[in-house]
Amino acid sequence: MTTLALRGGEPVRTKPFPKWPPAPTERQRAAMLEVLESGEWGSRFGTQGVEFVGRFAQRHGVRFGVTVANATLGLFTALRATGVRRGDEVIVPPCTFVATATAVLLAGAVPVFADVDPDTLLISPESVAQRVTSRTAAVIPVHLGGAVADVDAIRASIPERVIIVEDAAQAIGARLRGRPAGSLGDVGVFSFQSSKNMTAGEGGAVITDDERLHQAVWSVANVGRTQVGGWYEHPSVGWNLRLTEFQSALLMDQLETIDEANAHRTRATHQLARLLEERVVGAQVLPDPPSTTSHGRHLAMIRFDADAYGGATADSLSEILRAEGIPAFPGYPLLHRDEAIQREASTISPDYTHHDCPAAEQAMPVTVWLPQNVLLADEPDLHDIADAFAKAQKAAS
Ligand SMILES: *Cc1c(COP(=O)(O)O)cnc(C)c1O
Repeated sequence: MTTLALRGGEPVRTKPFPKWPPAPTERQRAAMLEVLESGEWGSRFGTQGVEFVGRFAQRHGVRFGVTVANATLGLFTALRATGVRRGDEVIVPPCTFVATATAVLLAGAVPVFADVDPDTLLISPESVAQRVTSRTAAVIPVHLGGAVADVDAIRASIPERVIIVEDAAQAIGARLRGRPAGSLGDVGVFSFQSSKNMTAGEGGAVITDDERLHQAVWSVANVGRTQVGGWYEHPSVGWNLRLTEFQSALLMDQLETIDEANAHRTRATHQLARLLEERVVGAQVLPDPPSTTSHGRHLAMIRFDADAYGGATADSLSEILRAEGIPAFPGYPLLHRDEAIQREASTISPDYTHHDCPAAEQAMPVTVWLPQNVLLADEPDLHDIADAFAKAQKAAS
């Protein structure tokens, strides 16, 4: 039997997976120079930001969008704009990047954790319904990994006054029953941080089809101005949360390539699923939820049978896989157990208590994931992933 690389054996793979972001295109180089020479580096008189977010919104079938510095502030902006205020409750899943919950705290509200569907790790509409109280102001469904949370079912199970802000940071190009993620709730928030499927290093966008809400979003991100008012007129409180023109120009180019890149990731995900099924015991790619008619492919999540891997956890298995040259990760720490969040929430709401999320607790420790750049690899590279799982499994048995 071959020795695990973690114990000094030969790794399955030493070749790196495709780099992210990919090498710049000629169009991106030209666009950077154009912004540089125009002198319009900020969005006040620049045209890139307005054009980019207009096209981005249109791609999602909505009329309005605002670019922001990042998605954390995008979520904050969406919550402020929809009227979420100090002491309100906002329902979020525990299986997400920490910013989903900390954006709620930034808005002065407290995150209330609803459990997930263990098969998808997406927020469960039934659990959301159970968490609603008279203080619930909003729900933030997270389209984890690019699978789309069932916003329709959530809408049907909460009171009309409760706002839905979609965290679509990982879901560019995703669709629920044919409709674009980010256009399903009241407001949709996207991230262009370095790891995301479209990136400008940092950045975010907030989209909506509601004109009044759009004005409010714009104002929050533009120091409380209105689009028709004066530069030093601030009828409401807001902040400078804007994106630079350089970033918008970088993103503009990616509007042309994102669909093709995601199609490649989809093919790779299906190939990997087949390889694991044919050649590996006790590990499978989580199937797309049937309602996700187009998947954002930010992560490939792989569920494993801990017994087949010698009682491994997501932490220990992903460490073994990384040593074999496969960039596998154990996923986020569960946020309903995060003590820093609990401490902060308690300063806002002294009676703050966190809810148990048994499905999340059961599913996260037996799920590892691969980031989107791995899915840009070609089929021979995917064999290495299957081989590494097979090696880890055999070493444990
Ligand atoms: C990346 C991410 C965020 C935060 O985005 P930033 O642009 O880094 O602020 C929020 N939620 C999810 C699910 C993310 O993946």
